[in-house]
Amino acid sequence: MIVIEGCAIATVDAQRTEHADGHIVIDGDRIVAVGAGPAPSEIDASRRIDGRGCLATPGLVNCHHHLYQSATRGLVTDGTLFEWLVALYPVWAHIDERTVAAAARGGLAALATSGCTTSTDHHYVFPRGGGDLLAVEIDAARAIGLRFHPCRGAMDLGQSQGGLPPDSLVEDLDAILAASEEAIDRFHDPAPGARVRIALAPTSPFSVTRELLVESAALARRRGVRLHTHLAETIEEEEFCLGTFGVRPLQYLDDIGWLGEDVWLAHCVHLDDGEARRMGATGTGVAHCPTSNGRLGAGIAPVPRLLEAGAPVGLGVDGAASNEAQELIHEVRAALTVARAARGPRALSARQALELATLHGARCLGREDELGHLSAGALADVALWRLDDLGFAGIADPVAALVLGPPRPVDALLVGGEIVVEGSELRTADAETLASDLARECAAIAERAGL
Ligand SMILES: [Zn+2]
Repeated sequence: MIVIEGCAIATVDAQRTEHADGHIVIDGDRIVAVGAGPAPSEIDASRRIDGRGCLATPGLVNCHHHLYQSATRGLVTDGTLFEWLVALYPVWAHIDERTVAAAARGGLAALATSGCTTSTDHHYVFPRGGGDLLAVEIDAARAIGLRFHPCRGAMDLGQSQGGLPPDSLVEDLDAILAASEEAIDRFHDPAPGARVRIALAPTSPFSVTRELLVESAALARRRGVRLHTHLAETIEEEEFCLGTFGVRPLQYLDDIGWLGEDVWLAHCVHLDDGEARRMGATGTGVAHCPTSNGRLGAGIAPVPRLLEAGAPVGLGVDGAASNEAQELIHEVRAALTVARAARGPRALSARQALELATLHGARCLGREDELGHLSAGALADVALWRLDDLGFAGIADPVAALVLGPPRPVDALLVGGEIVVEGSELRTADAETLASDLARECAAIAERAGL
């Protein structure tokens, strides 16, 4: 058993219970008790973590990412989404198992040290002969120690058919469906406490056929896995959908049965009020990626409207090619500041911002029964944030200090009761080795792509 005590606790449980000074008791991979004051002295703990000066929160959940992009950061720094994609597709065509291994480990390490215990990934670039890329990133998540929900992504609408990606990067519909089913067979764990679950994720309306969307939804529902895609990210996408399909992006998905409690959509920047209500009515989740949306100048998602409508709104760092920092706690602050910049100081509270990163993220991934809150019976995924240095001095409210105060790496991170970060340092891998591996693979792909 592990006991954490002496810390403030924001449980994000059903009652939003908070303790100014409390304890958490962990047995195996589950939390068995959370309460005020010190833990009962009769508990025979193998380990006691001194939480004084810290705030404990649920481990953060990252709802959207493209880990391979950690190998292509800092490119097209001033372009729109479509300009950025058209310039980067030919670079991404050169990824292989070594690129993805180094990029995924580096990206997952950045998530861990920024408080993330569960991440998804949306991998949709499968160059011919590029290797077993999904297996490589799942190995990376096991090595770093994070819970992982990778999406088998895909593109099947190349430029010659009116899509945005080059024909050389798109796959055949039947091959995609076979690979999707194989990914579920090999990796998906439906059991409680799962470390790996698969979702299916055709990439975006402008890079996939309607048939792939329809067939992927049928396959996902037959196999009991979730669905994910990008939607309503930019005005250019809206114009593409109106011009190509005659409807706005959300209507396009709605018409083919792609809204529901088993679906979460990245971005949703350009939704009107009626569309936000439709998201809530269908229980469709959103992965809000404020830094990426700002980096690409896409706009600000209507998060307060989506929350009012009852839609789950999780947070995502998005790929590192459009969010070079790729740290999840930054997105908590960014969600608050962009919501308020757009709609005033009461648009999103510090506690709501924390809820997006925890409970709402767990809802997006279908894990709210056991993730996203600190309560007895939940998985022991815990972030411990140190708030007693000069940067936070005198801020009485620990949640306000975490969300509004200066950025810091998480002090300690536990995933399923296992220590991943301690003393603000990754314990599962050597950060210097990860950095040199990533730098080597960045140089290698740059050379292959002729950059
Ligand atoms: Zn994305």
